Amino acid sequence: MAKANKKIVQSDKCTGCGICDSVCPINTKLEKKDDFDHDTAKLAIRVRNGSAVVDEEICIACGSCVRSCPVESLSIIEIAAT
Ligand code: SF4
Ligand code: SF4
Repeated sequence: MAKANKKIVQSDKCTGCGICDSVCPINTKLEKKDDFDHDTAKLAIRVRNGSAVVDEEICIACGSCVRSCPVESLSIIEIAAT
């Protein structure tokens, strides 16, 4: 998986539309669980205070949210090797 050297970064263009949350494969997998609770689930990306926030511990940097964002607010960047 690509996670090791990539991450998603947010810009100030985000409108809080929530599309990224709905297309994220990590989120959609969680949503299939019977006891899914959007407020408490460990989502990879969610809208908080009107802006999408990525949980880097959970996000696998697949890029689906980046491609789906209507205002190109999200970017996937390479992290320099340490
Ligand atoms: S890059 Fe991360 S937050 Fe975005 S869709 Fe993929 S797993 Fe979800
Ligand atoms: S990052 Fe893009 S898709 Fe996600 S809530 Fe913001 S505007 Fe919508």
